[in-house]
Amino acid sequence: MKPSFYDLNYSDLETIINTHNFNSSASRILFNWYYKKKQNTPCPDISKSALAFFEQNYDFYLPEIDTVYQSEKDRTVKFLFKLKDNHKVETVLIPFNNKYSICLSSQVGCAMNCSFCFTGEQGLKRNLTTSEIMGQFLQAWRWLASNRAGEERILNIVFMGQGEPLHNFDAVKKACEIFLSQYGTSIGVQKITISTAGYIPGLKRWSEEIPRVNLALSLHSPFAEKRNELIPINKKYPLEEVLTYIDQVPLNKKQFITYEYILIKDFNDSADDAEKLGNLLAGKSAYINIIPFNPYPGSRYQRPNLDTVENFKAILDTFKIPTLIRGVKGDDVLAACGQLNSL
Ligand code: SAH
Repeated sequence: MKPSFYDLNYSDLETIINTHNFNSSASRILFNWYYKKKQNTPCPDISKSALAFFEQNYDFYLPEIDTVYQSEKDRTVKFLFKLKDNHKVETVLIPFNNKYSICLSSQVGCAMNCSFCFTGEQGLKRNLTTSEIMGQFLQAWRWLASNRAGEERILNIVFMGQGEPLHNFDAVKKACEIFLSQYGTSIGVQKITISTAGYIPGLKRWSEEIPRVNLALSLHSPFAEKRNELIPINKKYPLEEVLTYIDQVPLNKKQFITYEYILIKDFNDSADDAEKLGNLLAGKSAYINIIPFNPYPGSRYQRPNLDTVENFKAILDTFKIPTLIRGVKGDDVLAACGQLNSL
């Protein structure tokens, strides 16, 4: 099987171009063609021999869009992608002012088995490759270009779809490098966020290899017993260790860590929970993202009412931690956080 062109970061491509003595400008031209211009035809602007070489030796296949679900409430779009081996993953475009954030999947299924997440029920089937991650982005962009012309602006990338991105670090890192490359999609480093359940080996690699990419931690409860129930890997990598690790990572001036907090009715939504959370995060370069629980078929938890959500936020406000309540977008097509399941 041929390797995929979309698995190459810029320096991989440069190495190939140099090894075969093609004109050194070919790397820039190719990245520009496939990522900046987002073309999917053979690149006409490189030499005939280079063109023939890439045609013969590289695969340009991208995951196919199997089904598109469009929210009638808010223009959210969910794509079900079919991969070469017939596995499926989902990707979501979340609208904001005629622009979009894209929520990418990093694995088929997930090994973390969180008790509140639809994806976890699938178990882990396999990691996605870099080309399958890039493919979600490029195909979603092309869908916008043909279906919502003029709106094909995907300005934020969040690894918050299916899978634990830090559990598939190599492929996710390479995708980030392509997104960031000035010759590639040239997305700003502050516009990419990796969300993790707190997988410490991956956190180490993030901090050593791509620390400028933003991090979001799924915190969900400051109490060990409750967090163990919600996120089983907390037993192996307890929250205190995760926070201690994150605290010593030097951040840029403008950089902060997002702490996600899923709010579940009568489970982690009391004043006591909010105060303990506030105490834990006060003084850090933190941003709290409250995500009211999104139900899915067969889920065992419920979403608290709006008053409870607002009271919870009001308590956090007293700790002077910027807190945002994440709006529910796309839930009519099961595209909201935790509702992705592609079995
Ligand atoms: N594995 C990564 C990315 C997953 S999903 C992680 O754990 O962070 C992105 C966010 O959605 C996480 O904070 C996750 O905890 C949250 N989420 C999962 N299921 C949810 C649900 N049913 N309702 C609301 N948020 C959910």
